[in-house]
Amino acid sequence: MISIAQAQQIILDAVTILPSQELSLLQALGRITTQELHAPWDIPLADYSAMDGYAFSATGEAQFRIDGFLPAGESRTLPVPRGAAVKIMTGAVIPPGCDSVVPIEDVEIHNGILQIRGKIRTGMNIRLRGEEVVAGDLVIPSGTLLRAAEIGMITTLGRSTVTVTRPPRGALLSTGDELVEAGTIPQPGEVINSNSYSIAAQLLEAGAEPVMLGIARDERELTLKKLEEGLSADLLITTGGVSVGDRDLVKELLVELGGEILFWKVSMKPGKPVAFAMVRGKPVFALPGNPVAAMVSFEQFVRPALLKMAGHSRIFRPVVKAILGEAVNNPGKRPHLVRGTVELTNGRYRVVSTGNQSSGRISSLTRSNGLMLVPPDTLLAAGDDVDVQLLDRNFEMGR
Ligand code: AMP
Ligand code: MG
Repeated sequence: MISIAQAQQIILDAVTILPSQELSLLQALGRITTQELHAPWDIPLADYSAMDGYAFSATGEAQFRIDGFLPAGESRTLPVPRGAAVKIMTGAVIPPGCDSVVPIEDVEIHNGILQIRGKIRTGMNIRLRGEEVVAGDLVIPSGTLLRAAEIGMITTLGRSTVTVTRPPRGALLSTGDELVEAGTIPQPGEVINSNSYSIAAQLLEAGAEPVMLGIARDERELTLKKLEEGLSADLLITTGGVSVGDRDLVKELLVELGGEILFWKVSMKPGKPVAFAMVRGKPVFALPGNPVAAMVSFEQFVRPALLKMAGHSRIFRPVVKAILGEAVNNPGKRPHLVRGTVELTNGRYRVVSTGNQSSGRISSLTRSNGLMLVPPDTLLAAGDDVDVQLLDRNFEMGR
């Protein structure tokens, strides 16, 4: 059986980046850039006042007569003579002859003579030309997710469009004779198809577009038809029917459609029976039916593939060391991905499990924001360090 890392490598070697398109800036929110964006000019473009106050030369005296007024957006070419200061507003260009700005609060004016209170530093309260970005600097690298701040930054580069990938379209098929549609009341033996919704939500959270193919009974003709339909998307995800049961048809049908199974079964718990195939040039992820196994294996295999297809420069969730709040035992032969609740206190991550880890219990995921990676044959005590994959977006920021 291959490892999670080996399986990820096979997948990432097989998938390729999607075509890109030029969009207006607001349409590009949430997309990934495929071009390097350089500064066409210095930012700021000139030396600007960072305060409402008085511009003066710090090399002269500390008393000045007042010589004119510069509101934001204005500049002055006439040099300011020695012994004079100019009333200046935030965002006005520093006039020639001045090198510092004193805020309005720190001056006294008597009989038209300005006296500076407090310490004078040459260059104080000036935003210097190019102090943020110099013309030619790389400002937004290719592979960047565009959020509000990136949109604002690109606007300051004088652009109104940007080149980004289109979001991957992921077709989603749930297989199983026992499945009934969401919103119905199940009879004993029936199981509500929750996978289509949890996986569709994971697709959306990863910036992809779900294409809902619904439920396929464990029956050849219908399943084959639905699988074929799914191949018109950028990738296809199935859940269920990939184990060793009598009606586990998915793998053989993928082969029947001309596909090549690149792996089946990964050394992990939950999620072992996952399979990956390339069928007619499209990546196909056959996830286990078990709701927790489906979501956990989506995290390990589908999400990195989606981010690579979308051109993302960072495709894996961060893994951090956390202190265990309780003992965790993995007596098995496969790494156990234990659903946990992670907290950051005093700069240290701390993690506890969400309780019963039966892979049928979707409730083990609902309160979880991280997956502990517990190696095989390992007993960890409270206070030990454990690797945790952070699933919470808030934890990803600033890292
Ligand atoms: P399978 O992998 O098809 O053997 O399914 C494993 C378990 O997951 C069974 O208990 C199924 O009832 C359950 N299951 C399969 N598909 C779904 C689904 N779409 N939504 C919720 N549970 C499912
Ligand atoms: Mg099944």
